[in-house]
Amino acid sequence: MTATQLQGVGVGRLAVVGPVIQVAPLPEVADDAVVERDGVALSADQIRTVVDEAFPAVAADLQQQAADATGTVADVLAATAAIASDPALRGETLKRIDAGTAPIAAINGAVEMFARIFTQAGGLLAERVTDLHSVRDRLVAKVMGLPESSAPSLDEPVVVVAVDLAPADTAALDLDKVLAIVTELGGPTGHTAIIAGQLGLPCVVQVPGATKIAEGTVVAVDAATGGITVNPDDELVKEIDARAAAQVEFAADTSPGATSDGHKVDLLANIGTGDDAERLKDSAVEGVGLFRTEVLFLDRTSAPTIEEQSRAYAQALRALGGRKVVVRTLDAGADKPLAFATLPDEENPALGVRGYRTVRAHPDLMATQLDALAGAAQETGVDPWVMAPMIATPAEAREFVALARARGLKTVGVMVEVPAAALQARALLSEVDFVSLGTNDLAQYTMATDRLRGELSDLLDPWQPAVLQLVASTARTGKELGKPVGVCGESASDPYLALVLTGMGVTSLSMSVSAVPAVRYALRRHDLPTCQRLAELALAATSAPEARERVRDAVEPAVLTALG
Ligand code: PEP
Ligand code: MG
Repeated sequence: MTATQLQGVGVGRLAVVGPVIQVAPLPEVADDAVVERDGVALSADQIRTVVDEAFPAVAADLQQQAADATGTVADVLAATAAIASDPALRGETLKRIDAGTAPIAAINGAVEMFARIFTQAGGLLAERVTDLHSVRDRLVAKVMGLPESSAPSLDEPVVVVAVDLAPADTAALDLDKVLAIVTELGGPTGHTAIIAGQLGLPCVVQVPGATKIAEGTVVAVDAATGGITVNPDDELVKEIDARAAAQVEFAADTSPGATSDGHKVDLLANIGTGDDAERLKDSAVEGVGLFRTEVLFLDRTSAPTIEEQSRAYAQALRALGGRKVVVRTLDAGADKPLAFATLPDEENPALGVRGYRTVRAHPDLMATQLDALAGAAQETGVDPWVMAPMIATPAEAREFVALARARGLKTVGVMVEVPAAALQARALLSEVDFVSLGTNDLAQYTMATDRLRGELSDLLDPWQPAVLQLVASTARTGKELGKPVGVCGESASDPYLALVLTGMGVTSLSMSVSAVPAVRYALRRHDLPTCQRLAELALAATSAPEARERVRDAVEPAVLTALG
């Protein structure tokens, strides 16, 4: 048998070999399907009642699934349940039925209307379309009296392959027997990917042709490269087994982040809620490097109150028990649109009134947030670090520092995620106590590449020499001025890039908590002079692939074996 290679977008670095099981979508129900019970077609009134009652029933099922789950799985199921409970979706469906539309057509029409709104809003909302469709499938099944899940029962450990998997589909699987998740659709930051990350499963999304793989076929799934090898040869199986063994070993290491010669690099977690902070209680991280507070503001029609915000911030500060917590003020706009803070008519929202600039239109949002954070600091006795996103000028940094200090917040910084900020690093750093490089946006703005366009991912690559140069010059300036320069974009979770960033003088790396063990392992296997040499190698490259290759060729061979 020959090996065939499929390519997708990997999430995380894990790899595994196993047989495929295909999870088929629920069978399609025609728009004009007749709703019947016991072979008898229902009357118009009965149909209206069945549809009306299907919404709370689907929401209740999902809430029950959420109650049976834990952590992020529970959170995303609860969020899907909220879609089913949304009175607007139910109202729109019933309105169509009252106007004479057939019930299934009414559900499909209403769902597609909201799917279009979500897609147009972009960013995180666009990724909720999968959840919306999963709610639709459950509503249709309930109305038709059909099974609501196509999740197969699993007898042996398998690689689950599907066109797309909503959280409710994933949660319905016997997760102990799931080795990996592969989907044809879905995004690397979608809910399936988030759940896979929490469960420690390799996940590869956007794999064209995955559902054509015959059931039972053995595949190697490599999240580090996004590669799916059908019928892998013995050598590849051995390589993946060696990686799995090494990963078990380094997952057990809980020592603080440092190079082999003891140069300290704080390994921090990115979080979005107070509950995320609670889950970090027993994690081997030096703290939180990015609390994305906008998560508290999403899916709402008005901003959370000062009390609500204060509770969430205090929960995080308390949960980390005195470890460092970097709270970022609201980063609304572009990929994170908020109904009450984002201008509806921006032609280029990524270049518009977003991030810190929201203060121009809504100074009250910033004032309330800083008041809430100061209140949480006072209540817990823990001093948070606070930083503003999307700062473009030293004047903005100065203005933000004044707002934060006026409330007694002691450690105040800004994000460097706009090339202008990196180019002005010296002036910027003289205004603040620290900076944190947001390499997701820094790559977007440096390379003029929309961070949400998967097809341009080669340009968005943080290994692009132009991005690396801006990071390096900011880190160098921070070192000269004796001020911390962290990285909290996705690039910090790439262990090879983490070595390069450390060599450039970056003082902390913040990432999703599941990425920490691999980064800690890579750091432990190299001393600071080697990291500095790796940084020089990367900076001397003229393309992202060349930079990556130069570094991979020069790291400890054991690290390549362990991390792939
Ligand atoms: C970044 O831009 O790198 C960053 C960390 O912020 P966000 O991803 O939330 O925009
Ligand atoms: Mg950003």
